[in-house]
Amino acid sequence: MDVVNLLGLDLEGLAAYCEQLGEKRFRATQLFRWIHQKGAADFDQMTDLAKSLRQKLAGRAHVKALDVISEHQSGDGTVKWLFDVGAGNAVEAVFIPESDRGTLCISSQAGCAVGCRFCSTGHQGFSRNLDTAEIIAQLWYAEHNLRRRFGTGERVISNVVMMGMGEPLQNYSALLPALKMMLDDHGYGLSRRRVTVSTSGVVPMIDRLRDDCPVALAVSLHAPDDELREQLVPLNKKYPIAELLDACNRYLDRAPRDFITFEYCMLDGVNDKPEQAQALVELLCGHVSCKINLIPFNPFPASGLKCSPRDRVTAFASILSKAGLITTVRKTRGDDIDAACGQLAGEVQDRTNVIVRMSRAPLGATPA
Ligand code: SAH
Ligand code: SF4
Repeated sequence: MDVVNLLGLDLEGLAAYCEQLGEKRFRATQLFRWIHQKGAADFDQMTDLAKSLRQKLAGRAHVKALDVISEHQSGDGTVKWLFDVGAGNAVEAVFIPESDRGTLCISSQAGCAVGCRFCSTGHQGFSRNLDTAEIIAQLWYAEHNLRRRFGTGERVISNVVMMGMGEPLQNYSALLPALKMMLDDHGYGLSRRRVTVSTSGVVPMIDRLRDDCPVALAVSLHAPDDELREQLVPLNKKYPIAELLDACNRYLDRAPRDFITFEYCMLDGVNDKPEQAQALVELLCGHVSCKINLIPFNPFPASGLKCSPRDRVTAFASILSKAGLITTVRKTRGDDIDAACGQLAGEVQDRTNVIVRMSRAPLGATPA
């Protein structure tokens, strides 16, 4: 008999599981609160849970977190964890504290199949999807670890962004229960506005998310026209910009915020010219309610790309702002521990004992 990892079950799933064990639904709620709100992993700790249930769970189920390969804390308070997901694969999560919120950036896949040119996860290729337990384990571990560290029983993580490794909308079946657990009042109790899914533009799945669990949406645009976007984000061949923007507009009907965040990674001489800013204005102004987040590119050697100089980023931003598009330039955090966008690069050994570069991945486009 397989041991069930309870971190992989949303409240519905846990209720169904408890029913299979002959237990009432409210027991599932109690159990869920112990796991997610109190961070308990040991059934014996769950003192108000009927002893009979605790006995049934023992041996059949467990709360299995991910092994931590490394943890680094930056001078600015950013914390980065590298988690082992087996077979030489590892994924990263990053906590970014700010005065009014604490954001956790988490991963949805080991590697990524989309293969964007400027992304080291993309260069690495796709290893596998994380399951729901592995997605939630990043939040579970970070939240309870940080509470212990700060000596508080209060919630530390107020926002979650799916901006770590992987394309969350290419792992939808595992993502959806994880999002539900983040939102559940008996779980992490985050509002839909404070959970952001970032996507390179998987159009049909944007529609699914709209129907199933419309959290805040960030779309990685990176180019004002199809020709350039195809080169940067190969998925654009399948879902070109016009289709993507239509999906964004459909999403807005149900979105918790009245805008979509467009991410735009600033690449020297590639997508940062004034005429490209103007093309972006024409593409978006009056067509989609949005905010633009310009991300300074974090270089890695294999990309052959460079970050746009600061004055070009400023000039680009000012063209967008003047046209009425709300534009922010993302701050870089956690530089000293390689936790900034595109720098998440832990090193792990794969099966053949070759050191593989673990990816980058981006931080906190935490739309305010
Ligand atoms: N796959 C999803 C979510 C993870 S990537 C997506 O692409 O949206 C999150 C963000 O980080 C994306 O906007 C991505 O374009 C950006 N990013 C990737 N590599 C980067 C790099 N080297 N420097 C800066 N931003 C990067
Ligand atoms: Fe995948 Fe996002 Fe990286 Fe593109 S930017 S390769 S979609 S993780």
